[in-house]
Amino acid sequence: MPIDVMEKRGYFMNKFDIDPDEIKFHLESKPKDIDEVLEKAEKLERLDFEDIAALLHIDPNPNNKDFSNLLETAKRIRSDILGNEINLVVPLYITNYCMNKCPYCAFYCNNYSKGRTRLTFDQYCKEIEYLTAKNFRTIELVFSDDPEIGIKEMTKYIEHLRNKLEQGEGGMIGLNSSPLSQEDYRSLKSMGLDIVLSWQETYHKRTYDELHKECVSKKDFQYRLGTQDRIYNSGIRNAGIGVLLGLYDFKFEVMALVQHGLFLREKFDRFPIVGIPRLKEASRTLFQPEQKYQVSDNQLKLITAIIRLALPYSHIFISTRENKDLIIDLLKAGGGSISAALCSVAPGYITHKKSELNQFEVFSYEPAEMEQILGNNKFIPTYDPPFFDHINLKSLIPEIFKGNAALFIGSGLTSTVTDYTRNSSIFKKIADILTIKNIIIANCDSILEDTIKHRRGRINLIQEDKDMLEMESDTNVYKIHSSFDPLMFNKLEELFFTRTILFVGYNINDDNINAIIKKTKRRLENRVQYYAIMRDPTEVELRFWKSNNAIIFNVDIEPFFDILTEKLRTDPIINRYTFNALWEVRKQMEMSSVSLAARYRGIRDIEALETILERFKEALQDEKTRETGIFWGYDFDFHVGISLASGNSSFYDICRLLYRSLSTLSRQAQSKETLKQHEEILDAIKNKDEERAVKHMEDHIDYVREIWERGLNPR
Ligand code: SF4
Repeated sequence: MPIDVMEKRGYFMNKFDIDPDEIKFHLESKPKDIDEVLEKAEKLERLDFEDIAALLHIDPNPNNKDFSNLLETAKRIRSDILGNEINLVVPLYITNYCMNKCPYCAFYCNNYSKGRTRLTFDQYCKEIEYLTAKNFRTIELVFSDDPEIGIKEMTKYIEHLRNKLEQGEGGMIGLNSSPLSQEDYRSLKSMGLDIVLSWQETYHKRTYDELHKECVSKKDFQYRLGTQDRIYNSGIRNAGIGVLLGLYDFKFEVMALVQHGLFLREKFDRFPIVGIPRLKEASRTLFQPEQKYQVSDNQLKLITAIIRLALPYSHIFISTRENKDLIIDLLKAGGGSISAALCSVAPGYITHKKSELNQFEVFSYEPAEMEQILGNNKFIPTYDPPFFDHINLKSLIPEIFKGNAALFIGSGLTSTVTDYTRNSSIFKKIADILTIKNIIIANCDSILEDTIKHRRGRINLIQEDKDMLEMESDTNVYKIHSSFDPLMFNKLEELFFTRTILFVGYNINDDNINAIIKKTKRRLENRVQYYAIMRDPTEVELRFWKSNNAIIFNVDIEPFFDILTEKLRTDPIINRYTFNALWEVRKQMEMSSVSLAARYRGIRDIEALETILERFKEALQDEKTRETGIFWGYDFDFHVGISLASGNSSFYDICRLLYRSLSTLSRQAQSKETLKQHEEILDAIKNKDEERAVKHMEDHIDYVREIWERGLNPR
């Protein structure tokens, strides 16, 4: 059914509902041509129900050309949109007591098997220590419907975890619990909750009602269906939808799930996270799944690929209910970019190492093993929190950090958002990105420059040449009109030639600016990067920006700045100091640290540093591992190891903080040369030769800096 008809029939109205007859109709209609659908998907056009139904008719046989074409298309879309990073997250079960009686789950209330348990708060804190020490920064708290755990307890758990994450490098907190009210979600958000996952189990109401008829809190199909609305309305930006495959016909479930995803996309401008776990065996459940509903491995790949095409910007959660080979196949079929590594369905990892009562069977991999598996398959594992939005700021953030980015604000910003209060909130966000020192404004009103002045104290407001004679601030606000004074024009040209420019609300009919953009392109080819922020660009705009090698962020302006500032905020220092300032601090700190390490190091310190270098070397020798860049973790370990050997624990904290902010920039260094330099430093530490250790460290830091100058900062 075309999108406009879907809209007319109320699919995107305020309340989501499912029409089983409609789904049945599409599934039984003559399928459309698969190549046509794939072509549409490749262009990131929105697929309608007929398209999805056609894809669901594909026979998931590895020899079937349509199936392999589908998988290839999904893989390409995934890598274009989400890259090859896989964010490692970890679930933490708090309890396995439950008041409900879902027959497919071993936690149902009157399963009297041994092994009922819930973590005490003390045990919970120890579990958090354990997981954060393993570098996990995205932790999903999983609650069944335990009558002893209410919103008060959840608040306490979330508050503790938020504090713990903020003591380190920040992170994201997920919640998987029975559906809550909007007020409860809002209150948990204020404690630091970021993500809520709520699977529908099945979208087939009759099946749902039958399966949950003896439940206490899970009876109401409709209330559960409205959960994501309550989540988004509470201000939480990341909600998950999902089904438990195996309860009903998967074709029906996929049609309904996509419909739900598109509804949320329309209503809240968010692509939800998607979970598609398969029903697994568990001890003493009350349910014998029907053979015809069981989903094979290839069908699961088909489902994953279809969801990638239908909800291209969604993160598809790959569960460790599956074994490692299938996990990789699912990631290749468009799944990800999140996956659990370590996984236990018993409350806790250290409190109860093994439970006699598991919700279902899972595979669990130690993080290092998971990293290895992913690395071997050209995925890049990361502990950074997944960035649940359909824009990838990876290349932009370092430019802002280094002070290389300038902002161009066109009239589109004020014309699309008319309300003054909202405008001023966007402007505050813009003004607070302190490392953007050059802002070009093509608006006639003065709200933005007033806001910047107010937030930053002083600015140089440049409207004509004479304004450039006396500059008293490091923030330059260029206010441009239809014609420019010559000096000002030259200055703008220079900015366009030397900076990364972020265009917001730019009208591509501005001939003056277009002329500069054109010149820039000719002179520097691809070396200056432009970003254009706009919602649903027209074909002409698309062509314009593409011909200028710009990256387009298809997003509304205010959410874009929310995301950008949120991202900058997650790094405690990135938005406050320039790259140069931080680099100087790092150099001085590392030189002092290595000097003390050479003086005070013990045998254990030497052993630890030797082991790290040994692993670094091994990782470099292995071709597959080398490609993934995992060995950079050992670079981090080496520098942190020196700070530990110095005997001054403040070096340790500062080193971690600085390394994180600077690492995105310093990884251009040659890995073999880096290893050689590390070996020289270690040799000096071993021989307690402070002078030599400091000299080698200084050379090493200068070397990395030089590589950065040549590689990442050509200007
Ligand atoms: S599926 Fe959830 S609500 Fe149902 S019995 Fe299991 S833990 Fe309880």
